[in-house]
Amino acid sequence: MVHVIGTYLPRLLRHVIWDPLWKMPSQGKNLYLTFDDGPDEVATPQLLEILDRHQANATFFLRGDHAKQRPQLVRDVLSAGHAIGNHTYSHANAWKVSSDEYEAELERATVILQQLAGEPIRWMRPPFGRITPAALTWCKHAGQKLVMWDVLPGDFTPTATAAQVAQWTHNRIRPGSIVCLHDNPKSRSVTPAAMEELLPWLLDDGWRLCALPPLIHTEKTAAF
Ligand SMILES: [Zn+2]
Repeated sequence: MVHVIGTYLPRLLRHVIWDPLWKMPSQGKNLYLTFDDGPDEVATPQLLEILDRHQANATFFLRGDHAKQRPQLVRDVLSAGHAIGNHTYSHANAWKVSSDEYEAELERATVILQQLAGEPIRWMRPPFGRITPAALTWCKHAGQKLVMWDVLPGDFTPTATAAQVAQWTHNRIRPGSIVCLHDNPKSRSVTPAAMEELLPWLLDDGWRLCALPPLIHTEKTAAF
């Protein structure tokens, strides 16, 4: 038992903590805003307009079912120069469904998103931030990097306000930070308004708002 804990557990923990991307390697003031759960018929067009007006890019982690229902919004995201990633087909919780079910969710979303993008999907964000070794293994085989975040402003909480989300983000970002936000019905009244406050502030401070790149060339991520 001690042997098992002594070898397997640290290896498992290292796998789960080390393999995901928590923050981009960055020496400059590059910031990576990410929006989960879309495309949403209200929040996504609003965010696209705000990002465009500030010449900012971001990454949208899309649900396969929502992408299937609103393909034109996915095309709008892509044609504006933003990146897209896999957020499973129907927002599956990796800790509640079997590995087989979760892999089917990831594959189903990948097929839909790749058809719309016309190129391989490189990024995956697990719903609820729930990571399993099986999900990490699937990502490696599929050529998708599992992306977490280092800044979580909580735009999904019932009491969130735009001002709080903007302030929280502004106070916590560092070069290369990945910020987890949402474009879903719950965040419609918060996230676009928060971006209206935050983006001019960031640009005045010299931040560059970037999409996750199609391929990244760093020692940590070169393996996938
Ligand atoms: Zn989500």
